Amino acid sequence: MRKTIVLATLIYFGAILTAGLFPSRLDAKTRFATIGTGGITGVYYPTGGAISKMINKKRKVYGVRCTVESTAGSVFNVNAVMSGDLDFGIVQSDRQYQAVNGKAEWKEAGPRKDLRAIFSIHPEAVTLVAARDAGIKSIYDLRGKRVNIGNPGSGQRQNAIDALSAAGIDYKKDLHAEQVKASEAAGLLQDGRIDAFFYTVGHPGGAVKEATAGKRKVRIVPITDIAALIDRYPYYAPAVIPIKFYPGAVNQKDVPTFGVKATFVTSSGVPDDMVYAITKEVFENLDQFKKLHPAYEFLTPEGMLQGLSAPLHPGAIKYYKEAGLLK
Ligand code: GLU
Repeated sequence: MRKTIVLATLIYFGAILTAGLFPSRLDAKTRFATIGTGGITGVYYPTGGAISKMINKKRKVYGVRCTVESTAGSVFNVNAVMSGDLDFGIVQSDRQYQAVNGKAEWKEAGPRKDLRAIFSIHPEAVTLVAARDAGIKSIYDLRGKRVNIGNPGSGQRQNAIDALSAAGIDYKKDLHAEQVKASEAAGLLQDGRIDAFFYTVGHPGGAVKEATAGKRKVRIVPITDIAALIDRYPYYAPAVIPIKFYPGAVNQKDVPTFGVKATFVTSSGVPDDMVYAITKEVFENLDQFKKLHPAYEFLTPEGMLQGLSAPLHPGAIKYYKEAGLLK
């Protein structure tokens, strides 16, 4: 009898101790939030990790635990945030614009009225990577070549189509268009199965590093003649890819092209306090945040409120007013 009591007492205190050391993940106070990113060799994936890191440090204060999901990219993220499958998503600024205005992939479904902007992040350049042996020195040389324009669901797919049509190239007729994920494209290029690929991405990025560090010599191809493109689409701007990040590339000089911005979005249905907490943690610890990836080098609080076309989420507005970033 005494033994049983001692054993029961031990089990009882043991259970209390274990619960204290390993708090249950289902703790009623913790809410989970998932951020949709992109391929793991892009910059969205580490960016989702960086944002999560800021908020998860304060889990006890806010009761929010962020996790990151690798996805097909911007278009997928908008749709998943709208359906409630994801709470947050990283999305190209041009895709945010198209989604709220019911253009491009959202032409049939109409404007995504519940999409909400939080802040913008790093610049993304439309990056054309091509094998030297394919003789591609300009976008015009893509005619007749095997080119990965990007998977459906990605942001880059429409950018590639826009860049090609500005150069008078019909991706359906004038080249062999592949539609695989950017994370697979670098390997396909190195294996000689494609000649070039487009990727709209921040720099430095894993996929471009992988493509330029292999045996097959690779060039990052300038995309010039972009004046008409920039005139026509308000969300495109000139951009430059710093070649210092890719010492294996054939190029010696920085590469001119055009680009957009990565932005952080959510839905109007996501609670204000959750959005407020994330916004506050990223902005108040911006110096620390910027150390998490070289693509964030030029981020400033004011710049992070630019490039947004969806209405700001009220949780973000609350923080921006407190911080004096909004009136
Ligand atoms: N811009 C790409 C997209 O929207 C993703 C780039 C990345 O993962 O860094 O699909």
